Amino acid sequence: MTDQARESSVVEAAPKQLFINGKWTDASSGATFDVLDPSTGKVLCAVSDASPEDGMAALEAAAAAQSAFAATAPRARADMLMRAFHLLHERIDTLALLMTLEMGKPLAESRGEIAYAAEFFRHFAEEAVRVNGGYQVAPAGGARFLVTKQPVGPSLLITPWNFPMAMGTRKIGPAIAAGCTSVIKPAAQTPLSMLALAEILAEAGVPEGVVNVVPTDDAGAVMEPLIRSGLARKLSFTGSTAVGRRLLEQCADKVLRTSMELGGNAAFIVFPDADLDAAVDGAIAAKMRNSGEACTAANRMYVHADVIDAFGTKLAEKMAALPVGRGVDDGVRVGPLIDAAARGKVRQLVTDAVERGAKVLTGGEIGNEPGFFYPPTVLTGVPESARMRHEEIFGPVAPLTSFTSEEEVVAAANDTEYGLVNYLYTNDLSRALRVAEALETGMVGINQGVVSNPAAPFGGVKASGLGREGGPTGIEEFLETKYIGIALA
Ligand code: NAP
Repeated sequence: MTDQARESSVVEAAPKQLFINGKWTDASSGATFDVLDPSTGKVLCAVSDASPEDGMAALEAAAAAQSAFAATAPRARADMLMRAFHLLHERIDTLALLMTLEMGKPLAESRGEIAYAAEFFRHFAEEAVRVNGGYQVAPAGGARFLVTKQPVGPSLLITPWNFPMAMGTRKIGPAIAAGCTSVIKPAAQTPLSMLALAEILAEAGVPEGVVNVVPTDDAGAVMEPLIRSGLARKLSFTGSTAVGRRLLEQCADKVLRTSMELGGNAAFIVFPDADLDAAVDGAIAAKMRNSGEACTAANRMYVHADVIDAFGTKLAEKMAALPVGRGVDDGVRVGPLIDAAARGKVRQLVTDAVERGAKVLTGGEIGNEPGFFYPPTVLTGVPESARMRHEEIFGPVAPLTSFTSEEEVVAAANDTEYGLVNYLYTNDLSRALRVAEALETGMVGINQGVVSNPAAPFGGVKASGLGREGGPTGIEEFLETKYIGIALA
């Protein structure tokens, strides 16, 4: 089979309808919307476009399935997740190709994301059977306190396009483990990976109505009535801070439990005593994962004045050598951005920084090829007034700024409304811990450019969100604590 034929056959075989109550259905209106390949700008396929009525049907199915699912044995739910974990690995080649076609990232990164996504299922399969409560004597004696955990109930899960599968399993895994049913709305740009996941979950034995998937290109119109319906008990959202804020307001109406994984503005700090080669490799990992389209992407690089020139030269050399191209092609390390608007924003931010005095060490110029490509770019001397100091770049642009003191760089790193993650490179353990404690983020990477790990609590402070996903506490986001007081005669 030619590469082109394989691409077409994978897209053709992928589910493209709504998944409601265990059945694949067209949208009630018959409407569809197009999914594009960002490496060509061409249409890959059309997907059913859920209407508000379809969304409500999905939530009604989830609500109807809730009590029976909550009553299933934790071990049975764990087994469903483990079967799905194995199926994801068995189908990793096909799923990776599908993800690369709809999202653009290189195949190796898509495989990495699917393995990461699957790991959430294994992690939460192990957590499902460890949920426990407590039994306590009241301080004044007599009464006893019995504390138990119960599923929150039907949950709305909204995910972004940048990690089309892992941002879903990070929510679906703990929801199933805890005994919650759900309605998932994947990003309109990348619904295919989530629909393929729904197929796998059904095969893994997840009962009808427990997981429902409603792609739509009118997210607000479909989701707001569900949020306000009174049938849903929780919203777990991953996406931008702007949309997160609006959703929090909507959730206030019915006082829904919320988990919010929002935007970031990560600082990447290199102290003069750092291993410079390791810091350059870490910078590439922190910047170039997903072509910079990650909430965890290093958005501001602060490098000590003594080493900034050497660091900039090495980084620019390595960034310039990264092969750019269609993610399906061998050896490609940098795929296209998700769409023309995303590329336009990156271009504007670079122009703005250059106009304010930044110098281009490599990249910065868009070519004429089809698709939404932007070259790996390194800027130095980026002033604090540049827009990219305050806005997510979401592209392969590394902006360097120098600093001279620890206090100065900590203050600069904290001077943002975001608080997701920061990275620091130093060989001084005291400094590493001192700075890590002073940084106002939910996560810190010390001498490492990637912090994501399903077994660790992922999440932010300030405008980067509420709650944690993964780790030992991820399942708590889908559990309520019930206290039962018992009078002892
Ligand atoms: P986005 O525009 O906020 O969209 C995220 C999701 O919300 C999509 O499914 C989107 O649907 C949906 N949505 C948009 N407007 C909505 C509305 N009014 N009501 C209900 N749903 C709505 O973000 P994005 O551009 O897809 O993703 C990038 C952002 O996500 C960045 O800010 C990034 O930092 C953040 N992110 C955070 C994390 C984290 O863990 N903290 C992880 C990954 C990404 P449509 O696709 O139809 O617009």
